[in-house]
Amino acid sequence: MENLTLTPMQEWGLGLGNRVNISGPCSAETPEQVLETVKGVAKHDVHIIRAGIWKPRTRPNSFEGVGSVGLKWLKEAGKEVGKPVCCEVANVKHVYEALRGGIDILWIGARTTTNPFAVQEIADALDGVDIPVMVKNPVNPDLNLWIGAMERLYKKGISKIAAIHRGFSVHGEKKYRNTPMWQIPIELKRRIPGMPIICDPSHISGNRVLLQPVSQKAMDLDFDGLMLESHITPDKALSDAKQQVTPERLGEILESLTYRNLTTDNPEFKSHLQHLRDEIDELDHNLIDQLVKRMSIAREIGVFKKENNITILQPGRWEEIISDRVNYGRDQGLSDDILGEILKLIHQESIRHQTKVMNEQ
Ligand code: PEP
Ligand code: MN
Repeated sequence: MENLTLTPMQEWGLGLGNRVNISGPCSAETPEQVLETVKGVAKHDVHIIRAGIWKPRTRPNSFEGVGSVGLKWLKEAGKEVGKPVCCEVANVKHVYEALRGGIDILWIGARTTTNPFAVQEIADALDGVDIPVMVKNPVNPDLNLWIGAMERLYKKGISKIAAIHRGFSVHGEKKYRNTPMWQIPIELKRRIPGMPIICDPSHISGNRVLLQPVSQKAMDLDFDGLMLESHITPDKALSDAKQQVTPERLGEILESLTYRNLTTDNPEFKSHLQHLRDEIDELDHNLIDQLVKRMSIAREIGVFKKENNITILQPGRWEEIISDRVNYGRDQGLSDDILGEILKLIHQESIRHQTKVMNEQ
């Protein structure tokens, strides 16, 4: 477990509670667009206002943000509705200008988190500055890189840190713009229990349809809040048009969410849950026992292959296993993808055992 003693969001001095929603446009475009959007979202359960000032775009010649002039629009809109404001910083110049512009919270974007040099420069620029910093996950699914960025800030005295989960860029993914890989933020919470984690359904989804289900999923996984992009006229937005929603729609999404409790004192619930968990514990042990047996047979096969000078990998057999097991599981409600992954891992372990047998003198 990492050793980070963080200041909870409630103690950031910004009037935040233990659940924090952030909204505002992907990019600040004009003073009117920022102000109207902010006034609209402030009618809903939103506690922090966002706007991108400098935009990290995949290709040049797309809209790269209005630059420093937007800081004033953002800050003034925040003042108008009495809420703290945040923007992305990607280099030292951004840090100094955002601080000068009175921005209350900074965030480090996904592309920057991938680069330890950039993060270190930002951390150095913030040495001794008491400002909260939110760190988006790196674009690639690397938890240590994400944690490393937080540690760089922490080492410079920043203890007001939150993580933003915005999904990961994975080749071939179609459903999401950035696939969520929920197990990564879950593992982050396990490694740094005090770390607030905000989910960013806008950049995970890349469209408006998935915003609600992704937001609900984050709430069900006990995330500490949401970052959702909003715009008075989303279809005309200069960046991320497809995923932005009007302030009204934002309100509908937030109101539709069910907030579930982490625990309860109800003794009946507790005892029934315990009973079911005991069953799961037993089943998991059975699974492991079966795996152990499977590996012992794999070793036996390994000896046999060695004696007959036959390769470990038998592609035909492997194909047969995959299609047979996936069909068998599918009929009983297991997902092809997950079952395929589990089988690959089991196969990998069998190969490891057989390789050991082959190499024994
Ligand atoms: C953004 O929040 O608008 C943004 C650029 O996000 P990310 O760094 O997650 O791509
Ligand atoms: Mn965006």
